[in-house]
Amino acid sequence: MSKVIGAPADTEAVIGLEVHVELLTASKMFCGCRNAFGAPPNTLVCPVCLGMPGSLPVANAKAVEYLCKAGMALGCTIAEYSKFDRKNYFYPDMPKNYQISQYDMPLTTGGSVTLPSGKRVNLTRIHLEEDTGKNVHAGESIARSAYTLVDYNRAGVPLMEIVSEPEISSAREAEEYLAELKAVMSYIGVSDVKMHEGSLRCDANVSIRPAGARELGTKVEIKNLNSFRSVGRAIEYEIERMRACVREGERIVQETRGWDEGSGTTHSMRSKELAHDYRYFPDPDLVPLELGRALLSRWRTELPELPAAKRTRYVRDFGLSEYDAGVLTSERSDADFFEAVAAASGNPKQAANWMMGDVRKVLDRAEMTLASARGRPEQVAALITLVANGTISGKAAKEVIESVMIDGRQPADVVAERGLAQTSDAGAVAAFVDQALHANADSVASYKAGKEKAFEFLVGQVMKLSRGKANVEMVRGLLKERLG
Ligand SMILES: [Zn+2]
Repeated sequence: MSKVIGAPADTEAVIGLEVHVELLTASKMFCGCRNAFGAPPNTLVCPVCLGMPGSLPVANAKAVEYLCKAGMALGCTIAEYSKFDRKNYFYPDMPKNYQISQYDMPLTTGGSVTLPSGKRVNLTRIHLEEDTGKNVHAGESIARSAYTLVDYNRAGVPLMEIVSEPEISSAREAEEYLAELKAVMSYIGVSDVKMHEGSLRCDANVSIRPAGARELGTKVEIKNLNSFRSVGRAIEYEIERMRACVREGERIVQETRGWDEGSGTTHSMRSKELAHDYRYFPDPDLVPLELGRALLSRWRTELPELPAAKRTRYVRDFGLSEYDAGVLTSERSDADFFEAVAAASGNPKQAANWMMGDVRKVLDRAEMTLASARGRPEQVAALITLVANGTISGKAAKEVIESVMIDGRQPADVVAERGLAQTSDAGAVAAFVDQALHANADSVASYKAGKEKAFEFLVGQVMKLSRGKANVEMVRGLLKERLG
């Protein structure tokens, strides 16, 4: 790499992601301790997850099922035979001085994640392991803290590691890859995938090489990426740092670098360990995993419709755009809500407009989600129907939606209470129309002389006379009739 001299345009970035996903099982990977976030420190522990001498691990069947389902959803090949290995290293958050993981026989290989552009990022493997505990530094950083505390509640939580091939070529693609993985995991319900609680974590391997080259450059692993945004920013920063190194004729060092959110930079943490440093060997306390075909095919039938299939169906059956379908399917709960509104109103397009428009707006303003809102799909559908059958105008509906979503009120009640119903009584509307025509002879004359704009003015006058209550479609119809 050091011989490559050139402008940034002459290099391309090569990125691979290692994503850790905590599985949403009731208990830990090899013991009966509860798997939960946020409990008081060291309250969810036992001799097994603390690595006490003589304790024996037993694999959690649900974790194996969840990992296999994740693999199936991503098109991976599931190994009917695999085993657990010990990865040996010393670090205070690892009470046994080794982590139970999978080395040469992971549960799945292959598979891929498809990005919105249609590009497929292939997966190397997904393996099952246990999470470590958590070091809690007393100060703001290791260097500044007088002491470090260790919380072992997380030690032994089932964790899957999803490793991609180095086929991602920009920060944006990395974020898209993560978003799709997150959507798939939340759809199949194997994890709550909350980056801020650490149940979804990501390390990025980044390197650069001359554009079009086949050989990979020296890679750097970036850790401490706590949000989609920090993944993108860190990758962008690192690519630029490497390009600057190349320009200056410096050698890029293979190392692990930490991302610092505050300064927006990466810093050297340690030179990268090689696999043989870990002295992997099969865990003698655990039997190998043998999954029968019958079990695997049963799990396959239990998979729900996945985001990609839903998007295709929304475009095909509901006539939505790719973009709208993408937004509506990014969370399973949102997609379920939308489909319920579409079914109850019989109007998928309007349902999509409301979900992505005014419903979203009022929820964002109140800092609520669909799950925490009191409004239910049937109420949103009822509001759509009130507009469709002419009871209220679209404008009035926008005034009603907040009470529906935030307070859980019935749209018809809000309409009655605020007197928002339109006048669709033909006689009453005709009276307003005639009154407006009589009072605006000039506009009538200019319309007849070919000035289309005068028509809208007259519509406005009728609406004003009716104090906004006249059914605007009826007004238009009657005006055309009278002026025709
Ligand atoms: Zn335990």
